[in-house]
Amino acid sequence: MEQDTQKPRAKIAAQLMVGPEQLRHFGEARILSCLDYALDALEPEELILSIGESSRDLADKIVERCGRKGTRVSLWVMVFADRPVGLPSTSFVQDAGGNEGYGSVGAWENIGKGDEKFLFRCPSALGDDEQGIGFAIRSAKVIGAQGIFLDRIRYPSPANGLEFLGACSCPRCKKAYSAWSGEQWPDLTAIAVKHAARGTEGAGQFIQEAGQALQFRSHMVSRAVAQYAQAAHAEGLSIGLDLFAPSLASFVGQDYHSLSLSADFLKPMLYCKAFAPAGMPLEFQLLMRGLEQSGVEASKARDFIAGLSGIRADLLDLVRRGEGFPAALAASEMLRCLRETGSGSPHKPEIYAGIELVEHEAYDTKIDAETRDAYLQNLSGQNIAVCWNILYVPRRHIDAIAASRKDLR
Ligand SMILES: [Zn+2]
Repeated sequence: MEQDTQKPRAKIAAQLMVGPEQLRHFGEARILSCLDYALDALEPEELILSIGESSRDLADKIVERCGRKGTRVSLWVMVFADRPVGLPSTSFVQDAGGNEGYGSVGAWENIGKGDEKFLFRCPSALGDDEQGIGFAIRSAKVIGAQGIFLDRIRYPSPANGLEFLGACSCPRCKKAYSAWSGEQWPDLTAIAVKHAARGTEGAGQFIQEAGQALQFRSHMVSRAVAQYAQAAHAEGLSIGLDLFAPSLASFVGQDYHSLSLSADFLKPMLYCKAFAPAGMPLEFQLLMRGLEQSGVEASKARDFIAGLSGIRADLLDLVRRGEGFPAALAASEMLRCLRETGSGSPHKPEIYAGIELVEHEAYDTKIDAETRDAYLQNLSGQNIAVCWNILYVPRRHIDAIAASRKDLR
């Protein structure tokens, strides 16, 4: 057999989100022309599409255009928070004090104020989520999409407040944890605060004391994803996953290895500049702030988080000061994704490095040409996902991505 010496082509995924705001602001014709531009220039492997049921005609046109270009469409679906209206309401996660909603310790000042509420459902109460799974599959099939892309497959992040690191502390989850581990459900927030006071040394002690509970959280998330994947695969649909960066994943119940077993592709959100939920700068800043507000000395909180996340203390200092991370962090986090999903797994999903390439008044995050090029250089040769929404990605960014990929094709 002839040996294939060519490196595999680095692939691109793009995200398109069409809601009432985009329909009003852009109109159907401009949405389709933005899509056509991106399809021609980027030749993406995947389009991750969020679109309401009332835009069926437009959805059909989008899927048809993608089909002509050989681009697969995955319908974007929310699982634990911001679920589609019409699905039955189930209870929300609880912190160690039995509270629902948002915490106050180190919480993001804008949490709950936008369209995205980030109010997470209790995984035990959601059970097998037959209705959510059925809805996702029907919605994907009706528009002719080839896959489902799962978002909000996690517990609350630091943006919801440090209290919710202890989620879910509801009676059902406590009981499920006891049955799973034979142990009592601990107060993860209190344990983090206690060990953070010892800085770097505290990180190992935290893992020792909290590791099993953290594993249980990952188990609950992986279990839900496996249920979606099993049903989707039986219908011939693929599964993509929206994941926190590896350095943050353990704080929200995402285990790359076990999740990769259910997925056809992963999109780690390697946002180095975004001060928004899931953005590394905001989440790390709030995590440290939450510990400081709980009485931990700033340098100890930083060293503790450095020890737990693997992010260097000098980089954490940058986000404490309100700056972003260097784009090079996206590359090292990408290598970590490849490492954590690769070893010993016969089934290896594609991984797209998610980078926020928006520059538009709709977002506080603005990626200029210099940052864009830093991302593209650092991620040269890797698959990338153009986030958050191609409607807000300037054409000069799209052209630059296309040019940077030309040599690799
Ligand atoms: Zn619960």
